[in-house]
Amino acid sequence: MRHDDNLTADLPNFVTHLECAMTGERHEADQVHNLSRAGKPLLVRYDLAGVKQALTKDKLAQRPADLWRYRELLPVRRKQDIVSLGEIMTPIVPMPKLSKRLGGGEILVKDEGRLPTGSFKARGLVMAVSMAKALGIKHMAMPTNGNAGAALAAYATHAGIKTTIFCPEDTPEVNVSEIALQGASVYRVNGLIDDCGKIVGEGKAKVGWFDTSTLKEPYRIEGKKTMGLELAEQFGWDMPDAIFYPTGGGTGLIGMWKAFDELEKIGFIGSKRPRMIAVQAAGCAPMVKAYDEGKEHAPRWENAHTIASGIRVPQAVGDFLILRAVRESGGFAIAVEDPAIEVALDEMAREEGFLLCPEGAATYAAYKQALADGRVSKTDRVVLFNCASGLKYPLPKIEKKLDRLKPIDYAAL
Ligand SMILES: *Cc1c(COP(=O)(O)O)cnc(C)c1O
Repeated sequence: MRHDDNLTADLPNFVTHLECAMTGERHEADQVHNLSRAGKPLLVRYDLAGVKQALTKDKLAQRPADLWRYRELLPVRRKQDIVSLGEIMTPIVPMPKLSKRLGGGEILVKDEGRLPTGSFKARGLVMAVSMAKALGIKHMAMPTNGNAGAALAAYATHAGIKTTIFCPEDTPEVNVSEIALQGASVYRVNGLIDDCGKIVGEGKAKVGWFDTSTLKEPYRIEGKKTMGLELAEQFGWDMPDAIFYPTGGGTGLIGMWKAFDELEKIGFIGSKRPRMIAVQAAGCAPMVKAYDEGKEHAPRWENAHTIASGIRVPQAVGDFLILRAVRESGGFAIAVEDPAIEVALDEMAREEGFLLCPEGAATYAAYKQALADGRVSKTDRVVLFNCASGLKYPLPKIEKKLDRLKPIDYAAL
C-alpha cells in the first residue's frame, strides 16, 4: 500500500461526472454504471482546470514509479479502496539491432509483460476492481480471451469480491489455470468471446452479476489510460511519431487517446500527437475492414481465428472510438497474417533476446509491413506495445539432449 500517506485519507480527486461517448449525455459519478442510457461506453470526466492547479510535473516526478502516481487523473476517491498488487511503471526497451537492419527508424518496445498477472490487463482491472470495491459490488462476471480474466481474478480475490469468468474453449491453458488458482470460478465455453459475453449479460439479468465486459464498465479505460500518461512522461512530455497497438476491444488505444487529450488540457503537452496504428490479425480484422471502407462502425467478423488470442475480438462496443482515434491521429489500421506474427516473434527473440507475446509480435510484424509499403518512414520513432509476457504462451518444444555418460565433443557445443 502507499507508504507516503495514511490509508484512510482521501485521494486528491477531480471526477465531475461520466459522459456517454456517443451522445455526450451526463451520468452521475459514484453510482454503479455499465453502458450509458444510449447503450454506449461511458467516459469519466474530470475538472481538468482543477487538476492543472493541483498537479505539476515536478510534483509528479517525486512520486513512486507506479500507476497511482497519476492519482489526480484517476477515479478512485479513497486510499482504502485501492486494490494494489504492485502496478509498476513499465520500461521502454530499444531494439537497436532490428532498427539498424530495417533502415534506422528507432524501434522502442513498451514492455507491459512486467505488470501483475503478466499483462497490461492489470492496468484496467486494478481500476475496475478498486471502483467496484468503492461502490460495494459483490460479484463480478466477465467474458475473456484469458489475460483480462486472470487480472480480474487476481484483483477481485485480493479485494474479497467473488468472480465468475467465461472463456472460449481454446483459451491458452495457462490463462484458465491462473484464473482458477487466483480464486475465480472459470468455465470454458464452446464459442467465441462475444458468445461468452451473452452468458454474462444473462447472468446479470438473472442473478445480478456485475458485467465487467470490455468497455461495459467505465473504469477499465481509466486504468489503461495510464499507458498514455506514462509514455508521455517517459518521453519527457514529448511524443513518439507512431504507436503500434494490438487492438482487440481497443481499451488501450481509446484510453491513451483520452490521456493525451487530458494532458494537453492540464498543460503538460502541446497539440502534437503520435499516429495511432491499430494492429489486428488478418483472421480477425473488423477494425481494419471498417477503416479501409471509411465506416464509423465495424460489424461482427465471422469465423475469427488467430494465434494472437488477445486480439481475437470479432466485435467491439467501442468500435467508433477506436476508429475515431485512429483517424484523428492520422494513423491507420493494419492486419498481419499469423505466419508473419510467428516470424516476427522469432526474429525479435533470436536477434534481440526479447520474447514478445504473439499480440506484441503482431505489432512488430505490422511495423515491418508499414515500413515496406511506406506508411511509416525510416526516420520515425515508433513504440510497439508488448502487452503480455511471452512466457504466458505455449512455447516450442526443444528436443536437444546431452548424454553425460558418453564422450562430449565440447568444440561442437
Ligand atoms: C487484451 C489484450 C489485447 C487487446 O487489448 P485491448 O486494449 O482490449 O484492445 C492485446 N494483447 C493482449 C495480450 C491482450 O491480453
